[in-house]
Amino acid sequence: MDECVFCRIAAGKIPSAKIFENEEVLAFLDIGPVSDGHTLVIPKRHYSRLDECPAPTLSSLAAALSCTAGAVQKAMKADGYNVLCNNGRAAGQIVEHLHFHIIPRKTGDGLFRNWPSYSYPEGKAAQIAEQIRRMLEK
Ligand code: 5GP
Ligand code: ZN
Repeated sequence: MDECVFCRIAAGKIPSAKIFENEEVLAFLDIGPVSDGHTLVIPKRHYSRLDECPAPTLSSLAAALSCTAGAVQKAMKADGYNVLCNNGRAAGQIVEHLHFHIIPRKTGDGLFRNWPSYSYPEGKAAQIAEQIRRMLEK
């Protein structure tokens, strides 16, 4: 995965503003922040998407994500933060190496204002839940 930008960052071939590092995980500042302190948390090994990453690595990622998010919030004096993981082009993933964004938020900052939610018609939620449960069994 020599051409992958996050593999190259994990290998130290491209410089980054590092926040946290252990054997499996690296956290560093996003080069194009949405807000000050916008941080990326990645597995050092290359997995494209969340559902491809093995559970032990996800467990390390979750632990790093949690403590890094707390530190980012405190350091940036943020009122909150979003954790975002884009999977696939359709979902806005540009870098195809699994990563979690930690985006510090201030009250009234106006980011991500529109969450286009709607209601399911009668019976549709049960049907969709069943469709997803069937895939879990595979
Ligand atoms: P995505 O849209 O794939 O979820 O987000 C990829 C993120 O990676 C973007 O926010 C972008 O600014 C960041 N990014 C891309 N290339 C680099 C880089 O070379 N260094 C750092 N630190 N961040 C990068
Ligand atoms: Zn990679």
